[in-house]
Amino acid sequence: MDCLFCKIIAGEIPANKVYEDDKVLAFYDINPQAPVHILVIPKIHISTLNDVNKENSEVIAHIFEVIPQIAEKMNLEKGYRVVSNCSLYGGQTVFHIHFHILGGKKFGVSFG
Ligand code: AMP
Ligand code: ZN
Repeated sequence: MDCLFCKIIAGEIPANKVYEDDKVLAFYDINPQAPVHILVIPKIHISTLNDVNKENSEVIAHIFEVIPQIAEKMNLEKGYRVVSNCSLYGGQTVFHIHFHILGGKKFGVSFG
């Protein structure tokens, strides 16, 4: 499958990893939009949020257990933002579901 994030999981493309276990991987975004910008992805290929279902949602729950651990490691004790862009109008560019952890600054209420 021609998926950038599957290639990162397979080790075919390098990534600057910050967390890894048997189900998920987290690494620095190559084009950071905040002082701290981490992507968290499942190791199984799920294209978009619309493809989450009863069979694969356990890994999504696991991602949300891992996010606070990553935030702590990144010293985001003042808070952070988690974003997942879904499909065309959501601005998704990589079609392997991922959650952006954005931190290190105070965000406003705008979502652009
Ligand atoms: P999205 O637009 O929500 O699909 O987010 C995709 C993100 O992947 C963007 O923020 C990109 O900067 C990031 N990205 C693309 N290629 C890489 C890469 N090789 N390593 C790390 N992050 C990447
Ligand atoms: Zn993939």
